[in-house]
Amino acid sequence: MILHDKNLLSEKTKKSANLFEKACDVIPGGVTAHIKYFPPHPLMMEKGKGSKLYDVDGNEYIDYLLCYGALILGHGHQQVFDAVTKQMLESGTTIFGTPHKMETTMAEKLVELYPGIEMVRYTNSGLEATLLAIRTAVAYTGKPKLAKFEGHYHGGYDQVLVSVNPDMDQAGNATAPKAVGESRGLPDYYIENTVILPFNDLESTEKILRAHAHELAGVILEPIQGGFIPAEQEFMEGLRRITEELNIVLIFDEVKTGFRISIGGAQKVYGIKPDITTLGKVLGGGFPVGAIGGKKEIMMITSARGGRDILTAGADNSDKQNPLYHSGTYNGHPTILAAGLATIDLLEQEGTMEDLFTKTQSLRKELENVYKKHGLNMQTVGMGSIFNMILAEGPIKNYRDMSRANTKLRKEIDYELLKLGIYTKPLNRYSMSVVHTEEDILRTVEAHDEAIGRILK
Ligand code: PMP
Repeated sequence: MILHDKNLLSEKTKKSANLFEKACDVIPGGVTAHIKYFPPHPLMMEKGKGSKLYDVDGNEYIDYLLCYGALILGHGHQQVFDAVTKQMLESGTTIFGTPHKMETTMAEKLVELYPGIEMVRYTNSGLEATLLAIRTAVAYTGKPKLAKFEGHYHGGYDQVLVSVNPDMDQAGNATAPKAVGESRGLPDYYIENTVILPFNDLESTEKILRAHAHELAGVILEPIQGGFIPAEQEFMEGLRRITEELNIVLIFDEVKTGFRISIGGAQKVYGIKPDITTLGKVLGGGFPVGAIGGKKEIMMITSARGGRDILTAGADNSDKQNPLYHSGTYNGHPTILAAGLATIDLLEQEGTMEDLFTKTQSLRKELENVYKKHGLNMQTVGMGSIFNMILAEGPIKNYRDMSRANTKLRKEIDYELLKLGIYTKPLNRYSMSVVHTEEDILRTVEAHDEAIGRILK
């Protein structure tokens, strides 16, 4: 039974509650991704248009979740719809199951936009992209282990579901964090063999990397933690220098930050070339996608030419090499690449990214003013088109700093905001789209004012 908790959501979401209850009968916990759940029940959406979402009860929301950042053009952008239908109608199919021209067109575009990308391979999600990136690093260096940063998310699988949101009583010292598993069913191997690093602490990071250099294939990081806590420039430069010296592959996971911090991701802003980059979200224009790109020398490990055929029984592999194996029925899906190319095309039009960033800055500033007016210490933390609202004083530089934030109050505000038609999953960051309007910003700021007023009363 779902509780109709009037304090959390209003009577206005009854249909959502009922539908969710039905879902729970046939879907464990009612959601198909853990991230989509929040109590007492998530909202069931039925329509989207531009910057708005509409739930099954007919409530309208200004959407700042934007499918966890994927929808940089908002919902149902005509240019994306047109590109997708044109691709299907002209080719006469949804997918060829063979190589096709657009795979090269998109790869050329990514090489042009991302300083660290010389060659590309596609996957179907961000998760698969980081998985392939890690395997590539292991194959390239011949070393077995991975280092990741505390608080960084790279997808929901064994190797990286470690120390994403660890309890402080298990996480050890801030300068030498311990690996903490984040899921049942995770083999101990990954907890024992994953090296955890403290973000934005170059001295400690260097110490740990030097101690493990002989066994570390790669370091993976979100250049902007959670999409909103930026790495410091000096930290990034130091990390690039040290990994290069120690023959550790540097992997920028730009699944969130790609096309959102700049059109060339965070690496373009920092002026740093990672060895491997992973992309997803915006790249698919709202469809499932992922990609890895990197230095030619490293990427060529994945080349199928001259490699063993492991899927054809009886294939003669006697004179074949053993390349890194990577495959996927839907990799490089033409409909999805058409949506992605249309999205990038629009983002590349003069002034588009600048307008998006100006709008985001203006929303951030006005929100900070509203909280200040109510006597609350709130800072927006972010870069480009993503930010979060942190109710805490002092600099926010990594996972440990986030524990100073008043998340209880933030949650209360977020639930009030849902009632007032502002959508994000409670406690989530805000992502902006090119179609959010001045009026949306005004309504959002007024809603925050109203929500805080109600709570403080
Ligand atoms: N890496 C990062 C930085 C992400 O933000 C995400 C998704 N939130 C992923 C990887 C996994 O991507 P997907 O959900 O497409 O598998």
